[in-house]
Amino acid sequence: MPGTDYTRQTHHEFLTAAEEALRDPKLQDSLTNLGDTLAKRNRDAWAAFPQSDAVRELARQIKDDALAHLDEHLQTFEAALRARGGEVHYATDGAEACRIVTEILRSRGAKKVVKSKSMTTEEIHLNDALEADDVEVVETDLGEFIVQLSKQRPSHLVAPALHLRMPEIHELLSGDARETLPYTPEDMAAYARRRLRADFATADAGITGGNFAIAETGSIVLISNEGNARLTVSLPKIQIAIVGIEKVIPKFADLPVFLKVLARAATGQKMSVYTSIINGPRAADELDGPQEVHVVFLDNGRTRILEGPLRESLFCIRCGACLNVCPIYRNIGGHAYGGIYAGPIGAVITPLYDGLAANHHLPHASSLCGACQAACPVKIQIPEMLIRLRDKLHHEPGELGWAEGKAYGLWARSMRSPRLYRLFTWLATRTVGRLRKSRWLTKLPGALHGWTKTRDFPSPAPERFRDWWEREGAAPGGKR
Ligand code: SF4
Repeated sequence: MPGTDYTRQTHHEFLTAAEEALRDPKLQDSLTNLGDTLAKRNRDAWAAFPQSDAVRELARQIKDDALAHLDEHLQTFEAALRARGGEVHYATDGAEACRIVTEILRSRGAKKVVKSKSMTTEEIHLNDALEADDVEVVETDLGEFIVQLSKQRPSHLVAPALHLRMPEIHELLSGDARETLPYTPEDMAAYARRRLRADFATADAGITGGNFAIAETGSIVLISNEGNARLTVSLPKIQIAIVGIEKVIPKFADLPVFLKVLARAATGQKMSVYTSIINGPRAADELDGPQEVHVVFLDNGRTRILEGPLRESLFCIRCGACLNVCPIYRNIGGHAYGGIYAGPIGAVITPLYDGLAANHHLPHASSLCGACQAACPVKIQIPEMLIRLRDKLHHEPGELGWAEGKAYGLWARSMRSPRLYRLFTWLATRTVGRLRKSRWLTKLPGALHGWTKTRDFPSPAPERFRDWWEREGAAPGGKR
Protein backbone atom coordinates (compact mmCIF):
# COMPACT_ATOMS: atom_id res chain seq x y z
CA MET A 1 0.00 0.00 0.00
CA PRO A 2 1.71 3.18 -1.09
CA GLY A 3 1.75 6.00 1.40
CA THR A 4 3.80 9.08 1.92
CA ASP A 5 5.30 10.06 5.22
CA TYR A 6 3.05 13.01 5.74
CA THR A 7 0.06 10.66 5.89
CA ARG A 8 1.74 8.60 8.59
CA GLN A 9 3.74 10.93 10.79
CA THR A 10 2.77 14.15 12.43
CA HIS A 11 5.03 16.91 11.17
CA HIS A 12 4.96 20.60 10.59
CA GLU A 13 5.98 21.04 6.97
CA PHE A 14 2.55 22.32 6.06
CA LEU A 15 3.38 23.88 2.70
CA THR A 16 5.30 20.86 1.42
CA ALA A 17 2.60 18.45 2.56
CA ALA A 18 -0.14 20.67 1.11
CA GLU A 19 1.62 20.74 -2.26
CA GLU A 20 1.97 16.97 -2.16
CA ALA A 21 -1.72 16.61 -1.30
CA LEU A 22 -2.73 18.87 -4.18
CA ARG A 23 -0.72 16.74 -6.59
CA ASP A 24 -2.15 13.43 -5.31
CA PRO A 25 -4.88 12.38 -7.78
CA LYS A 26 -6.22 9.64 -5.48
CA LEU A 27 -6.63 12.04 -2.59
CA GLN A 28 -8.20 14.64 -4.86
CA ASP A 29 -10.64 11.99 -6.04
CA SER A 30 -11.55 11.12 -2.44
CA LEU A 31 -12.13 14.77 -1.55
CA THR A 32 -14.23 15.58 -4.62
CA ASN A 33 -17.60 14.65 -3.17
CA LEU A 34 -17.21 16.08 0.30
CA GLY A 35 -19.24 19.19 -0.54
CA ASP A 36 -22.12 17.09 -1.86
CA THR A 37 -22.14 14.57 0.97
CA LEU A 38 -21.25 15.49 4.54
CA ALA A 39 -21.28 19.27 4.00
CA LYS A 40 -24.65 19.19 2.25
CA ARG A 41 -26.17 16.86 4.85
CA ASN A 42 -25.07 19.26 7.56
CA ARG A 43 -26.64 22.27 5.78
CA ASP A 44 -29.86 20.34 5.09
CA ALA A 45 -30.05 19.19 8.70
CA TRP A 46 -29.87 22.76 10.04
CA ALA A 47 -32.44 23.89 7.45
CA ALA A 48 -34.87 21.11 8.46
CA PHE A 49 -34.55 21.88 12.17
CA PRO A 50 -36.47 25.12 12.82
CA GLN A 51 -35.09 25.60 16.35
CA SER A 52 -31.52 24.89 15.31
CA ASP A 53 -30.28 28.39 15.98
CA ALA A 54 -31.70 28.50 19.50
CA VAL A 55 -30.48 24.98 20.33
CA ARG A 56 -26.98 25.72 19.04
CA GLU A 57 -26.92 28.90 21.10
CA LEU A 58 -28.00 26.90 24.15
CA ALA A 59 -25.27 24.31 23.53
CA ARG A 60 -22.76 27.15 23.34
CA GLN A 61 -23.98 28.62 26.63
CA ILE A 62 -23.81 25.26 28.39
CA LYS A 63 -20.20 24.84 27.25
CA ASP A 64 -19.35 28.35 28.36
CA ASP A 65 -20.89 27.84 31.83
CA ALA A 66 -19.31 24.39 32.18
CA LEU A 67 -15.83 25.76 31.49
CA ALA A 68 -16.37 28.62 33.95
CA HIS A 69 -16.80 26.07 36.77
CA LEU A 70 -14.74 23.23 35.37
CA ASP A 71 -12.93 22.45 38.64
CA GLU A 72 -16.22 22.00 40.52
CA HIS A 73 -17.70 19.83 37.77
CA LEU A 74 -14.66 17.56 37.72
CA GLN A 75 -14.94 17.05 41.47
CA THR A 76 -18.66 16.32 41.18
CA PHE A 77 -17.97 13.83 38.42
CA GLU A 78 -15.27 12.11 40.44
CA ALA A 79 -17.47 11.78 43.53
CA ALA A 80 -20.39 10.38 41.52
CA LEU A 81 -18.32 7.80 39.64
CA ARG A 82 -16.36 6.73 42.72
CA ALA A 83 -19.63 6.21 44.59
CA ARG A 84 -20.48 3.52 42.05
CA GLY A 85 -17.07 1.87 42.14
CA GLY A 86 -15.33 3.63 39.26
CA GLU A 87 -11.84 5.15 39.36
CA VAL A 88 -10.88 8.65 38.22
CA HIS A 89 -7.33 9.61 37.26
CA TYR A 90 -5.91 12.96 36.15
CA ALA A 91 -3.11 13.34 33.61
CA THR A 92 -1.35 16.64 33.05
CA ASP A 93 -0.02 15.57 29.65
CA GLY A 94 -0.08 12.79 27.10
CA ALA A 95 2.91 10.97 28.56
CA GLU A 96 1.26 10.79 31.97
CA ALA A 97 -2.03 9.59 30.47
CA CYS A 98 -0.19 6.84 28.58
CA ARG A 99 1.66 5.88 31.75
CA ILE A 100 -1.58 5.61 33.73
CA VAL A 101 -3.16 3.39 31.08
CA THR A 102 -0.14 1.13 30.63
CA GLU A 103 0.17 0.71 34.42
CA ILE A 104 -3.47 -0.29 34.74
CA LEU A 105 -3.06 -2.85 31.97
CA ARG A 106 0.31 -4.15 33.16
CA SER A 107 -0.85 -4.63 36.74
CA ARG A 108 -3.78 -6.74 35.53
CA GLY A 109 -1.77 -8.71 33.00
CA ALA A 110 -3.83 -7.33 30.11
CA LYS A 111 -2.21 -8.03 26.73
CA LYS A 112 -4.92 -7.19 24.24
CA VAL A 113 -7.18 -4.13 23.99
CA VAL A 114 -10.00 -3.18 21.68
CA LYS A 115 -10.50 0.52 21.07
CA SER A 116 -13.38 2.60 19.83
CA LYS A 117 -12.64 5.74 17.84
CA SER A 118 -11.10 8.49 19.95
CA MET A 119 -9.19 11.54 18.80
CA THR A 120 -8.00 12.09 22.37
CA THR A 121 -6.11 8.80 22.28
CA GLU A 122 -4.66 9.84 18.91
CA GLU A 123 -3.59 13.13 20.49
CA ILE A 124 -1.54 11.34 23.14
CA HIS A 125 -0.24 8.63 20.74
CA LEU A 126 -1.66 5.94 22.99
CA ASN A 127 -1.38 3.11 20.45
CA ASP A 128 2.39 3.61 20.16
CA ALA A 129 2.75 3.58 23.95
CA LEU A 130 0.68 0.40 24.30
CA GLU A 131 2.49 -1.41 21.51
CA ALA A 132 5.83 -0.43 23.04
CA ASP A 133 4.55 -2.13 26.19
CA ASP A 134 3.78 -5.30 24.22
CA VAL A 135 0.02 -4.79 24.20
CA GLU A 136 -1.93 -5.70 21.06
CA VAL A 137 -4.27 -2.86 20.02
CA VAL A 138 -7.24 -3.35 17.71
CA GLU A 139 -9.20 -0.36 16.43
CA THR A 140 -12.84 -1.36 16.09
CA ASP A 141 -14.44 1.60 14.31
CA LEU A 142 -14.47 0.49 10.66
CA GLY A 143 -12.73 3.64 9.42
CA GLU A 144 -10.15 3.51 12.20
CA PHE A 145 -9.59 -0.21 11.55
CA ILE A 146 -8.86 0.55 7.90
CA VAL A 147 -6.55 3.42 8.88
CA GLN A 148 -4.76 1.14 11.33
CA LEU A 149 -4.21 -1.44 8.58
CA SER A 150 -2.84 1.30 6.31
CA LYS A 151 -0.45 2.47 9.07
CA GLN A 152 -1.59 6.00 8.30
CA ARG A 153 -3.17 8.62 10.55
CA PRO A 154 -6.89 9.50 10.58
CA SER A 155 -7.58 12.34 8.17
CA HIS A 156 -10.97 13.48 9.43
CA LEU A 157 -12.56 13.81 12.87
CA VAL A 158 -15.55 11.56 12.14
CA ALA A 159 -14.53 9.85 8.88
CA PRO A 160 -10.95 8.79 9.61
CA ALA A 161 -10.47 6.91 6.31
CA LEU A 162 -12.03 9.63 4.16
CA HIS A 163 -8.78 9.95 2.19
CA LEU A 164 -8.94 6.35 0.99
CA ARG A 165 -10.94 5.09 -1.96
CA MET A 166 -12.62 1.75 -2.50
CA PRO A 167 -9.70 0.06 -4.36
CA GLU A 168 -7.26 0.92 -1.54
CA ILE A 169 -9.70 -0.21 1.14
CA HIS A 170 -10.28 -3.47 -0.75
CA GLU A 171 -6.55 -4.07 -0.95
CA LEU A 172 -6.07 -3.40 2.76
CA LEU A 173 -8.92 -5.62 3.93
CA SER A 174 -8.01 -8.40 1.50
CA GLY A 175 -4.44 -8.22 2.80
CA ASP A 176 -5.70 -8.61 6.36
CA ALA A 177 -7.99 -11.47 5.35
CA ARG A 178 -5.18 -13.15 3.35
CA GLU A 179 -7.63 -13.69 0.52
CA THR A 180 -9.20 -11.53 -2.16
CA LEU A 181 -12.51 -10.36 -0.75
CA PRO A 182 -15.49 -9.74 -3.04
CA TYR A 183 -15.35 -6.16 -4.31
CA THR A 184 -18.50 -4.80 -2.69
CA PRO A 185 -18.80 -2.51 0.34
CA GLU A 186 -21.18 -4.98 1.98
CA ASP A 187 -18.74 -7.90 1.69
CA MET A 188 -15.84 -5.82 2.91
CA ALA A 189 -17.83 -4.54 5.90
CA ALA A 190 -18.99 -8.11 6.64
CA TYR A 191 -15.37 -9.28 6.72
CA ALA A 192 -14.41 -6.50 9.16
CA ARG A 193 -17.42 -7.36 11.30
CA ARG A 194 -16.47 -11.05 11.53
CA ARG A 195 -12.85 -10.24 12.21
CA LEU A 196 -13.59 -7.67 14.91
CA ARG A 197 -16.18 -9.83 16.69
CA ALA A 198 -13.42 -12.27 17.52
CA ASP A 199 -11.28 -9.44 18.86
CA PHE A 200 -14.08 -8.15 21.12
CA ALA A 201 -14.50 -11.63 22.56
CA THR A 202 -10.81 -12.09 23.37
CA ALA A 203 -9.77 -8.60 24.51
CA ASP A 204 -8.69 -8.01 28.09
CA ALA A 205 -9.62 -4.33 28.10
CA GLY A 206 -11.66 -1.81 26.15
CA ILE A 207 -10.39 1.71 25.61
CA THR A 208 -12.63 4.59 24.55
CA GLY A 209 -12.65 8.33 24.49
CA GLY A 210 -15.76 10.14 25.66
CA ASN A 211 -18.03 12.48 23.75
CA PHE A 212 -19.32 13.94 27.00
CA ALA A 213 -18.68 13.44 30.71
CA ILE A 214 -21.75 14.27 32.81
CA ALA A 215 -20.68 15.72 36.16
CA GLU A 216 -23.98 15.24 37.96
CA THR A 217 -24.10 11.48 37.37
CA GLY A 218 -20.43 10.65 36.82
CA SER A 219 -21.32 9.20 33.40
CA ILE A 220 -19.30 8.90 30.21
CA VAL A 221 -21.33 9.25 27.01
CA LEU A 222 -20.20 7.51 23.84
CA ILE A 223 -21.86 8.21 20.52
CA SER A 224 -21.37 6.02 17.48
CA ASN A 225 -23.08 4.69 14.40
CA GLU A 226 -21.55 1.23 14.31
CA GLY A 227 -22.18 -0.23 17.77
CA ASN A 228 -18.48 -0.90 18.25
CA ALA A 229 -18.25 1.49 21.21
CA ARG A 230 -20.99 -0.48 22.96
CA LEU A 231 -19.13 -3.77 22.47
CA THR A 232 -15.85 -2.15 23.54
CA VAL A 233 -17.33 -1.17 26.90
CA SER A 234 -19.47 -4.21 27.56
CA LEU A 235 -17.40 -7.30 26.69
CA PRO A 236 -13.88 -6.79 28.16
CA LYS A 237 -13.43 -6.89 31.94
CA ILE A 238 -11.67 -3.54 32.13
CA GLN A 239 -12.87 -0.30 30.61
CA ILE A 240 -10.70 2.79 30.36
CA ALA A 241 -12.03 6.10 29.00
CA ILE A 242 -9.57 8.85 28.15
CA VAL A 243 -11.39 12.14 28.15
CA GLY A 244 -10.26 15.74 27.65
CA ILE A 245 -11.30 17.79 30.68
CA GLU A 246 -13.28 20.13 28.43
CA LYS A 247 -15.76 17.35 27.67
CA VAL A 248 -17.50 17.80 31.04
CA ILE A 249 -21.09 19.03 30.96
CA PRO A 250 -22.84 19.80 34.23
CA LYS A 251 -26.15 17.94 34.15
CA PHE A 252 -27.80 14.93 32.57
CA ALA A 253 -30.49 17.29 31.27
CA ASP A 254 -27.81 19.05 29.17
CA LEU A 255 -27.12 15.91 27.16
CA PRO A 256 -30.16 16.02 24.79
CA VAL A 257 -29.08 19.49 23.66
CA PHE A 258 -25.76 18.10 22.46
CA LEU A 259 -27.27 14.93 21.02
CA LYS A 260 -29.49 17.11 18.85
CA VAL A 261 -26.69 19.22 17.45
CA LEU A 262 -23.82 16.72 17.28
CA ALA A 263 -25.48 14.19 14.97
CA ARG A 264 -26.86 16.88 12.67
CA ALA A 265 -23.50 18.61 12.40
CA ALA A 266 -21.44 15.44 11.98
CA THR A 267 -23.48 13.40 9.52
CA GLY A 268 -26.82 15.18 9.02
CA GLN A 269 -28.63 12.55 11.10
CA LYS A 270 -31.32 13.54 13.60
CA MET A 271 -29.74 11.14 16.08
CA SER A 272 -26.67 8.96 15.94
CA VAL A 273 -27.51 5.26 15.96
CA TYR A 274 -25.98 4.36 19.33
CA THR A 275 -25.73 6.49 22.45
CA SER A 276 -24.05 4.54 25.25
CA ILE A 277 -23.94 5.90 28.79
CA ILE A 278 -21.38 4.34 31.10
CA ASN A 279 -22.16 4.82 34.78
CA GLY A 280 -19.57 2.59 36.38
CA PRO A 281 -18.63 -1.08 36.70
CA ARG A 282 -21.22 -3.82 36.35
CA ALA A 283 -23.53 -3.94 39.39
CA ALA A 284 -24.29 -7.22 41.16
CA ASP A 285 -27.69 -7.53 39.48
CA GLU A 286 -26.47 -6.64 35.96
CA LEU A 287 -25.80 -9.24 33.29
CA ASP A 288 -23.00 -7.55 31.43
CA GLY A 289 -20.57 -4.67 31.57
CA PRO A 290 -16.98 -4.27 32.73
CA GLN A 291 -15.76 -5.24 36.19
CA GLU A 292 -13.57 -2.13 36.36
CA VAL A 293 -14.16 1.35 34.95
CA HIS A 294 -11.38 3.95 34.85
CA VAL A 295 -11.73 7.50 33.58
CA VAL A 296 -8.50 9.35 32.76
CA PHE A 297 -9.09 13.09 32.53
CA LEU A 298 -6.52 14.67 30.25
CA ASP A 299 -5.30 18.25 30.57
CA ASN A 300 -2.44 18.38 28.02
CA GLY A 301 -2.50 22.17 27.76
CA ARG A 302 -6.24 22.65 28.15
CA THR A 303 -6.10 24.60 31.43
CA ARG A 304 -3.58 26.95 29.77
CA ILE A 305 -6.00 27.49 26.88
CA LEU A 306 -8.84 27.94 29.35
CA GLU A 307 -7.16 30.99 30.82
CA GLY A 308 -6.37 32.58 27.47
CA PRO A 309 -8.26 34.48 24.78
CA LEU A 310 -8.81 31.33 22.68
CA ARG A 311 -10.78 29.57 25.44
CA GLU A 312 -13.70 29.17 23.07
CA SER A 313 -11.77 26.51 21.13
CA LEU A 314 -12.56 24.23 24.10
CA PHE A 315 -16.26 24.34 23.15
CA CYS A 316 -15.45 21.99 20.25
CA ILE A 317 -17.44 18.73 20.26
CA ARG A 318 -15.35 17.22 17.43
CA CYS A 319 -18.19 16.87 14.94
CA GLY A 320 -16.04 17.58 11.88
CA ALA A 321 -18.58 19.95 10.28
CA CYS A 322 -16.05 22.77 9.91
CA LEU A 323 -13.73 20.46 7.95
CA ASN A 324 -16.43 19.52 5.46
CA VAL A 325 -17.13 23.11 4.44
CA CYS A 326 -13.60 24.48 4.52
CA PRO A 327 -12.19 25.31 1.06
CA ILE A 328 -8.69 24.52 2.31
CA TYR A 329 -9.53 21.15 3.86
CA ARG A 330 -11.55 20.22 0.79
CA ASN A 331 -8.45 20.68 -1.35
CA ILE A 332 -5.69 19.24 0.81
CA GLY A 333 -7.45 16.80 3.17
CA GLY A 334 -6.50 16.24 6.78
CA HIS A 335 -2.94 14.89 6.82
CA ALA A 336 -1.30 18.02 5.47
CA TYR A 337 -2.21 19.97 8.61
CA GLY A 338 0.48 18.00 10.38
CA GLY A 339 -1.23 17.70 13.76
CA ILE A 340 -3.82 15.24 14.97
CA TYR A 341 -6.64 17.73 14.49
CA ALA A 342 -7.18 18.95 10.94
CA GLY A 343 -9.30 21.57 9.22
CA PRO A 344 -10.26 24.97 10.61
CA ILE A 345 -10.46 23.85 14.24
CA GLY A 346 -7.14 22.01 13.79
CA ALA A 347 -5.59 25.23 12.49
CA VAL A 348 -6.55 26.79 15.83
CA ILE A 349 -5.85 24.03 18.32
CA THR A 350 -2.73 22.43 16.84
CA PRO A 351 -0.75 25.67 17.38
CA LEU A 352 -2.26 25.90 20.87
CA TYR A 353 -1.31 22.33 21.81
CA ASP A 354 1.94 21.92 19.89
CA GLY A 355 3.28 25.49 19.74
CA LEU A 356 2.63 28.40 17.42
CA ALA A 357 6.19 28.71 16.08
CA ALA A 358 6.27 25.09 14.93
CA ASN A 359 2.84 25.49 13.29
CA HIS A 360 3.07 29.06 12.03
CA HIS A 361 1.52 28.21 8.65
CA LEU A 362 -1.70 26.86 10.14
CA PRO A 363 -3.37 30.15 11.17
CA HIS A 364 -2.89 31.21 7.54
CA ALA A 365 -4.45 28.00 6.19
CA SER A 366 -7.82 29.67 5.93
CA SER A 367 -9.61 31.99 3.56
CA LEU A 368 -11.52 33.41 6.57
CA CYS A 369 -14.73 32.87 4.59
CA GLY A 370 -16.68 32.03 7.76
CA ALA A 371 -18.16 28.76 6.44
CA CYS A 372 -16.68 26.92 9.44
CA GLN A 373 -18.43 29.13 11.96
CA ALA A 374 -21.73 28.86 10.08
CA ALA A 375 -21.52 25.05 10.14
CA CYS A 376 -20.35 24.71 13.76
CA PRO A 377 -22.97 23.31 16.16
CA VAL A 378 -21.63 25.46 18.98
CA LYS A 379 -20.94 28.49 16.76
CA ILE A 380 -17.25 28.69 17.57
CA GLN A 381 -15.81 31.89 16.13
CA ILE A 382 -13.01 30.14 14.27
CA PRO A 383 -12.12 32.99 11.84
CA GLU A 384 -11.73 35.41 14.73
CA MET A 385 -9.45 32.99 16.56
CA LEU A 386 -7.32 32.49 13.44
CA ILE A 387 -6.92 36.27 13.16
CA ARG A 388 -5.87 36.39 16.82
CA LEU A 389 -3.25 33.73 16.16
CA ARG A 390 -1.99 35.65 13.12
CA ASP A 391 -1.77 38.74 15.32
CA LYS A 392 0.16 36.76 17.94
CA LEU A 393 2.56 35.53 15.26
CA HIS A 394 3.23 39.11 14.35
CA HIS A 395 3.77 40.42 17.87
CA GLU A 396 5.64 37.63 19.60
CA PRO A 397 9.39 37.80 19.07
CA GLY A 398 10.72 34.67 17.45
CA GLU A 399 7.32 33.51 16.15
CA LEU A 400 7.87 35.07 12.70
CA GLY A 401 10.84 34.79 10.40
CA TRP A 402 13.08 37.89 10.53
CA ALA A 403 12.33 39.04 6.98
CA GLU A 404 8.60 38.38 7.32
CA GLY A 405 8.51 40.27 10.61
CA LYS A 406 10.32 43.25 9.10
CA ALA A 407 8.03 43.27 6.07
CA TYR A 408 4.87 43.27 8.19
CA GLY A 409 6.36 45.94 10.48
CA LEU A 410 7.14 48.16 7.50
CA TRP A 411 3.68 47.63 6.07
CA ALA A 412 2.07 48.58 9.40
CA ARG A 413 4.20 51.74 9.64
CA SER A 414 3.37 52.78 6.09
CA MET A 415 -0.34 52.38 6.79
CA ARG A 416 -0.01 54.81 9.69
CA SER A 417 2.11 57.43 7.92
CA PRO A 418 0.76 59.27 4.81
CA ARG A 419 4.33 60.23 3.86
CA LEU A 420 5.59 56.63 3.96
CA TYR A 421 2.43 55.36 2.26
CA ARG A 422 3.00 57.85 -0.59
CA LEU A 423 6.60 56.72 -0.92
CA PHE A 424 5.77 53.01 -0.98
CA THR A 425 2.94 53.31 -3.50
CA TRP A 426 5.25 55.42 -5.71
CA LEU A 427 7.91 52.70 -5.43
CA ALA A 428 5.38 49.91 -6.12
CA THR A 429 4.17 51.46 -9.36
CA ARG A 430 7.77 51.91 -10.53
CA THR A 431 8.99 48.42 -9.56
CA VAL A 432 6.25 45.76 -9.42
CA GLY A 433 4.07 47.94 -11.67
CA ARG A 434 6.69 47.70 -14.44
CA LEU A 435 6.06 43.94 -14.60
CA ARG A 436 2.46 44.56 -15.51
CA LYS A 437 1.32 42.91 -18.72
CA SER A 438 -2.28 42.34 -17.68
CA ARG A 439 -4.40 42.86 -14.57
CA TRP A 440 -2.62 39.95 -12.91
CA LEU A 441 1.04 39.19 -12.34
CA THR A 442 1.88 35.51 -12.63
CA LYS A 443 5.46 35.74 -11.37
CA LEU A 444 6.75 38.03 -8.65
CA PRO A 445 10.50 38.58 -8.31
CA GLY A 446 12.88 37.65 -5.47
CA ALA A 447 11.52 36.82 -2.04
CA LEU A 448 8.00 37.56 -3.26
CA HIS A 449 7.98 34.63 -5.69
CA GLY A 450 6.29 32.31 -3.15
CA TRP A 451 3.03 34.23 -3.53
CA THR A 452 2.77 33.52 -7.26
CA LYS A 453 3.76 29.85 -7.00
CA THR A 454 0.13 28.85 -6.63
CA ARG A 455 -1.84 32.03 -7.39
CA ASP A 456 -1.62 35.31 -9.26
CA PHE A 457 -1.00 38.71 -7.75
CA PRO A 458 -3.07 41.74 -8.76
CA SER A 459 -0.96 44.18 -10.76
CA PRO A 460 -0.57 47.63 -9.24
CA ALA A 461 -2.40 50.19 -11.40
CA PRO A 462 -0.05 51.91 -13.90
CA GLU A 463 -0.92 55.17 -12.23
CA ARG A 464 -1.67 55.79 -8.60
CA PHE A 465 -5.10 57.17 -7.72
CA ARG A 466 -3.30 60.00 -5.95
CA ASP A 467 -1.43 60.93 -9.18
CA TRP A 468 -4.60 60.78 -11.23
CA TRP A 469 -6.39 62.90 -8.67
CA GLU A 470 -3.73 65.56 -8.76
CA ARG A 471 -3.36 65.48 -12.55
CA GLU A 472 -7.05 65.77 -13.21
CA GLY A 473 -7.51 68.52 -10.67
CA ALA A 474 -10.26 66.48 -9.08
CA ALA A 475 -9.31 67.50 -5.58
CA PRO A 476 -11.78 69.79 -3.86
CA GLY A 477 -10.86 73.33 -4.76
CA GLY A 478 -9.43 72.40 -8.16
CA LYS A 479 -5.89 71.52 -9.23
CA ARG A 480 -3.30 71.37 -6.46
S1 SF4 B 1 -15.08 23.58 15.70
FE1 SF4 B 1 -17.30 23.29 15.64
S2 SF4 B 1 -17.66 22.45 13.59
FE2 SF4 B 1 -15.46 22.18 13.97
S3 SF4 B 1 -15.28 20.13 14.84
FE3 SF4 B 1 -15.48 21.55 16.56
S4 SF4 B 1 -17.67 21.60 17.04
FE4 SF4 B 1 -17.46 20.70 15.00
